[in-house]
Amino acid sequence: MAVIWWIRRDLRLADNTALHAAFTKSETVIPLYILDPSLLNAERNKGPRIAWMLDGLRILDHDLREIGSRLIVRMGIPEIELSKFASEVDATAIFYNRDYSPYATRRDQKVREALTGQRIAVHDFKDLIIHEADETLTGAGKPFSVYSPYHRVWNTLPKPALLDRPARLQTPTTIESMPIPEASEFGAVAADQPIAPPGESAALNRLSDFITSAVERYKEQRNSPALDGTSILSPYLRWGMISPRTCYWAAQDALKETSDKQARESIDAWVGELVWREFYYQVLARNPHVTHNAYRLAYNNITWENNAAHFETWKAGQTGYPIVDAAMRQMNSTGWMHNRCRMIVASFLCKDLLIDWRMGERYFMQRLLDGDLANNNGGWQWTAGTGTDAAPYFRVFNPASQAQKFDPDGIYIRRWLPELSNVPAKYIHEPHLMPSDVQQAINVVIGRDYPAPMVEHGIQRDRVLELYSKARQGQSDEL
Ligand code: FAD
Repeated sequence: MAVIWWIRRDLRLADNTALHAAFTKSETVIPLYILDPSLLNAERNKGPRIAWMLDGLRILDHDLREIGSRLIVRMGIPEIELSKFASEVDATAIFYNRDYSPYATRRDQKVREALTGQRIAVHDFKDLIIHEADETLTGAGKPFSVYSPYHRVWNTLPKPALLDRPARLQTPTTIESMPIPEASEFGAVAADQPIAPPGESAALNRLSDFITSAVERYKEQRNSPALDGTSILSPYLRWGMISPRTCYWAAQDALKETSDKQARESIDAWVGELVWREFYYQVLARNPHVTHNAYRLAYNNITWENNAAHFETWKAGQTGYPIVDAAMRQMNSTGWMHNRCRMIVASFLCKDLLIDWRMGERYFMQRLLDGDLANNNGGWQWTAGTGTDAAPYFRVFNPASQAQKFDPDGIYIRRWLPELSNVPAKYIHEPHLMPSDVQQAINVVIGRDYPAPMVEHGIQRDRVLELYSKARQGQSDEL
């Protein structure tokens, strides 16, 4: 009796709910990945994320071969391919882990209909997150729109234990598989210097390094982009190369190891970030309209300027605001950006350049290895002030003061903007304020070697506040 493990966002063997259920139920498990042209050809996937994922598939195939199995790859519309494949291999059941985007929900419904029509059992599982939307409701049975009470409820729920990885998997040797394609076949380009290598082993090593070093200082270091103060697990969590439960239980083990108050607060703060990730999944699952609209619908009425040249300047990291430019260049080159910087550049795009947050959201999706609809959309709407639990619309980040606070010596800025490496610390956050004799002396002339600020923050701040207040006139702030 053969069963299919349909792999989607769970490129790993350890603590994989669908895989575990498949191999405990059947001796013969067929690991199947279906390359879905509608995802591969989407504009948002032309960047490095798909290249990273395809390399991740190669590693998964290697890991499977080590336990006697291998990855079968097919390409096509999932419900059609699965239906054909299940007949071809005479499968009795299919096992997969649930996903929550509107596209994934529709796709999985079609798959379920097609396969149950063929009398094939369909088993789906909670795995991508620790708690699903219907587990975390208010006392009145409603979804949370504010993080803190959500977090409190999330903390009270019992957590699933870790599941074993298979020691061996038996997969028929005769099933055909297409080779795993190169990203260039879909017009996707790998990152120049990917922030981290793909694969389950790399993810587990990264977690173990983080837990034994930075997690105890997370609270004080997490906002400093110059430091290696965060886990950089987001691309692995995005592709399921590690499970959120593995992260959660590693943090619980770390808590047992220390009685130091600050260390314990840091570990809890880190778990709190895993909870933000889950918070945004339940926001998306309960409010699919956020995919294209402001969560608070009143903010759909903002008349953005959407200056195309300004947008290109922001994308290229040439705004004349060093912290913004450093962050954009970090993302363009590595496929990852520090969280503090994500907030700064997102705020700059919508509040200083008056460009629709959805344009920035799309660009992030094109560039990020961890690009994920729920979290990217949640982060953008939070920063734009249009979302759940958002920063109030009148809070406008000042890029220079953010940089002074979080990168005081300009270490991060100099790392990504080598043209500013000789700028004295006093001017690193606002190099256009350097007197011309200093510019000449260090051979960094503003306007020649580095741009002058493309807009004036103070003026833009007043303009954006007016735009927001017009959009809100006569409208409720709520859904
Ligand atoms: P750590 O600080 O080590 O946190 C551990 C894990 O918690 C992360 O790997 C991530 O899964 C989760 N997490 C941390 N911070 C957040 C947060 N603010 N919201 C939700 N989850 C969080 N995260 C994505 O995974 N994909 C995205 O596409 C994405 N887009 C964003 C866009 C904007 C505008 C903003 C402000 C934030 C975005 N984030 C996104 C959230 C956050 O920036 C990243 O998850 C974080 O920077 C990843 O780095 P890390 O793994 O070192 O995080």
